[in-house]
Amino acid sequence: MSSSVRPASSDFLSRLTAIVGADNAIADPAEQAPYLSEWRDLYMGRTPLIVKPASTDEVSRVLALANAEGVGIVPQGGNTGLVGGQIPRETGCDIVLSLKRMRRIRAIDPAGTAMTVDAGLTLADVQDAARKAGRMFPLGLASEGSATIGGNLATNAGGHQVLAYGPTRSLVYGLEVVLADGQVWDGLRTLKKDNTGYDLRDLFVGSEGTLGVITAATLKLFPEPDERTTAFVSLPSLDALLPFFQLAERRAGAALTAFEFMCDLIVSFVVQHIPGTRHPLADDAPWFVLLELSGAEGSTATPMERLLGEASEAGLVSDAVVAQSLTQAEVLWKIREAASEAQKGEGGSIKHDISVPIARVPELLVKAGEAVQRVCPGARPVPFGHFGDGNVHYNVSQPTGMARADYLALWDAMAHAVHDVTVSLGGSISAEHGIGRLKAAELVRVKSPVEIELMRRLKTALDPKGILNPGKLLAP
Ligand code: FAD
Repeated sequence: MSSSVRPASSDFLSRLTAIVGADNAIADPAEQAPYLSEWRDLYMGRTPLIVKPASTDEVSRVLALANAEGVGIVPQGGNTGLVGGQIPRETGCDIVLSLKRMRRIRAIDPAGTAMTVDAGLTLADVQDAARKAGRMFPLGLASEGSATIGGNLATNAGGHQVLAYGPTRSLVYGLEVVLADGQVWDGLRTLKKDNTGYDLRDLFVGSEGTLGVITAATLKLFPEPDERTTAFVSLPSLDALLPFFQLAERRAGAALTAFEFMCDLIVSFVVQHIPGTRHPLADDAPWFVLLELSGAEGSTATPMERLLGEASEAGLVSDAVVAQSLTQAEVLWKIREAASEAQKGEGGSIKHDISVPIARVPELLVKAGEAVQRVCPGARPVPFGHFGDGNVHYNVSQPTGMARADYLALWDAMAHAVHDVTVSLGGSISAEHGIGRLKAAELVRVKSPVEIELMRRLKTALDPKGILNPGKLLAP
């Protein structure tokens, strides 16, 4: 596929520049720099040009031209992706197409159930616009100030609200997508029910810019709960995690809108490295849970109190603090949200974004811990994540004192070991971050040949010249 992708000629670059305007075509390496490296510093790309179209029509003309010339296009939103999908290859041939100038709110449905926005609007701006309309868009990520809704859709982003509202895929009615040859598919519908053949929308969601460029989306809006009650809880052992979650589900039902777990080491990293944080409880438990109940006014505080009382009597919870104000809730959430950032203070970190059936999370944590020690004795696992979705960020910090580069050289061996455990438990090697470049080789290793072949056929049908995000997701 990507073998047909060619370097860009200077005539081609001039014609691209003419489409978006000289002010929106970046060729200067210093100006390009922020678009060519990513949050984890794993990839550093090269490109002859970054183009920043302002409209669907401009995206369409860019793609039609690139397709005719056979030049690779890398869609980029907020550049917060964690698997390198948004970074052009080091070959320096691919053009970066940044959606950042496309940030209009196109329409809000009079009933307040749907909002149509350009793909380059940041998630924080989407949430804000929903709030101003008296509604809520429930997707929430620590990267929301920069991540765009187009990127969220292209990666089918998760976050801590998935338990109650599902991943981004569940939060969208319809899409507008520019295809590889420049044709525009207008699928901006607002229908809850639509059984008219293959689900094209779901094909593009999670396709990481390899099947089309998402230029707009019609998003689902929800009523904002009147109140939330947030608690930070310590557990006496790993064995308490699943029964505590089951009890919370039984007692709170649909009001349980978050159930995030953290090991003791990650909480201590946060307290040590993130200014303005402190441990909410005594620092002597092995596991912690941040849970939240949401609902109508007066409906969450008493059930939380009862739940924690019952869990404590059953020996599932050792200690708990319940936020008494929004500010206190934010302080508790900061601990969870700073978990990724805090690992930077401990040197190299090898990350695995994996999922297994919920009942198997404890087994995963034990077996992955053993596998990691076989690859690198002394490595420090710092698992945390969305327990209610079976999604574990099984991140592993380097042994104290080891050189960062020596440790990161073990990435593939460790990923194999952790992914093998995951797959043996019926799990997935990417729960919410996608495949990108980081996991392209692993995808082929763990998926069945039939599944990979089906994906390749879809890719070839929609992008016969392989110009869309070459080298990502489906490695050549
Ligand atoms: P980019 O990084 O720019 O791109 C990501 C991928 O999508 C690339 O393959 C790119 O080619 C493609 N793409 C981007 N825009 C488009 C488009 N319009 N059309 C087609 N393809 C496109 N992710 C989670 O799921 N859950 C989390 O809780 C979470 N927390 C995070 C916390 C931090 C601190 C950071 C840095 C990242 C986190 N992420 C999380 C990862 C990241 O924020 C998400 O993957 C996000 O959805 C990416 O959006 P973006 O606009 O930055 O996309």
